Amino acid sequence: MTPSPYPPVPLAATASPPRAVIVGGSLSGLFAATTLRAAGWRVDVFERSPQQLDSRGGGLVLQPDVLAAFRHARVAHRGPLGVRSDDRIYLNIDDAVVHRSFMPQTQTSWNMLYIAMRDALPAVCIHAGERLVGFRPSGDRVTTLFASGRVETADLLVGADGPRSTVRSLLLPGTEPTYAGYVAWRGLVPEAALNRAAAARLGSAFVFQQGHDHMLLEYRIPGEDGAVNDGARRWNWVWYRKVAAGAALADLLTDRDGTPHAFSLPPGATRDAPIAALRQDARRLLAPSLRELVLATEEPFLQAILDLAVPRMVFGRTVLLGDAAFIVRPHTAGGAAKAAANALALAQALASGTRDIDARLADWEAGQLEAGASMRAWGVAMGDRIMGAAEAAG
Ligand SMILES: Cc1cc2nc3c(=O)[nH]c(=O)nc-3n(C[C@H](O)[C@H](O)[C@H](O)COP(=O)(O)OP(=O)(O)OC[C@H]3O[C@@H](n4cnc5c(N)ncnc54)[C@H](O)[C@@H]3O)c2cc1C
Repeated sequence: MTPSPYPPVPLAATASPPRAVIVGGSLSGLFAATTLRAAGWRVDVFERSPQQLDSRGGGLVLQPDVLAAFRHARVAHRGPLGVRSDDRIYLNIDDAVVHRSFMPQTQTSWNMLYIAMRDALPAVCIHAGERLVGFRPSGDRVTTLFASGRVETADLLVGADGPRSTVRSLLLPGTEPTYAGYVAWRGLVPEAALNRAAAARLGSAFVFQQGHDHMLLEYRIPGEDGAVNDGARRWNWVWYRKVAAGAALADLLTDRDGTPHAFSLPPGATRDAPIAALRQDARRLLAPSLRELVLATEEPFLQAILDLAVPRMVFGRTVLLGDAAFIVRPHTAGGAAKAAANALALAQALASGTRDIDARLADWEAGQLEAGASMRAWGVAMGDRIMGAAEAAG
């Protein structure tokens, strides 16, 4: 008989605080770790990537849920967390402002949130290069198994392992993200690298150009080092473009080394031909200031737009949260906020440790399922309108 990879489960030491094993060390995992730790839990984060993740990601709209999670977990940050914009403007293809509305908000970057939370956790809590391959519930504990052979036992397993979650695939086989029919090309440009005329037109606004079947948006975010002063920030843009599912999408998501990727390509990985086609389209379809922005981008990167909704988020002592549970369209500017809200509500529900844990988890699940489903539906409706599907249908 093959020996089980799972050793006998040790009894929980009654005097010690409960322990959570968190799988995934990106934003959802760090929101869960910081908020649960503030609620008195021992936390350990296991991330499959061996490197620090802080070079990942682009801009994000800073939402109140993120600030609420930071406050609860007492996550400190040096200086302002983002760059403020007051107006939203829409440009036409001639660079004229066709609509303006006052809508103040703050834009930050993925790496600012990541670094602030990582630095708020003791380094010994974060375990890089550890890929979860299986887990087994046993009474009120869960034993997890990693590719390295490591075995960890906890009172709670948190699946914060993103769109291609291993935890979800083991709990809900067949529940996978679906492609929405368009991609987001993205880019970051140092503030000083954009020519003066374009910089003056874009200024401090949150800028959109709505085209037929495509939309580009742009806003400024902190510099890579977090600086928010004049000249040190970055321009962040996202251009939604339709790409047919199947061969066209697979070709686009094949990197410079010929390796196919499921949903995204990081900066530096996109082949020259799709970048040349993107630049050609920018010359044809974009307002002059936005065209300059795309042309000034050295390494555009790419994400397929996905939809996902799970029917459950709690499975005994295992929970799913963040993009492992619901993927919302980026038009909601709410993916990170949803991850923060999932984590904060979980930490508040479990602040009394494991007492009444099943009832508390059930309450948490009911609220988060409803919030996830409604944000997802709102995002799909916006996506249909922006990309022309609603128009075509009716
Ligand atoms: C184009 C675009 C624009 C967006 N703009 C915004 C915005 O303006 N505002 C906003 O709030 N959100 C935005 N989002 C969404 C936001 O980025 C995510 O919702 C948010 O970061 C939460 O992601 P996550 O941590 O759940 O998943 P991920 O960031 O995917 O992290 C999952 C982690 O789990 C790790 N992992 C996976 N499997 C395993 C395993 N078996 N073992 C160990 N580790 C594993 C991965 O390596 C990864 O680090 C946008 C998304 C897109 C696509």
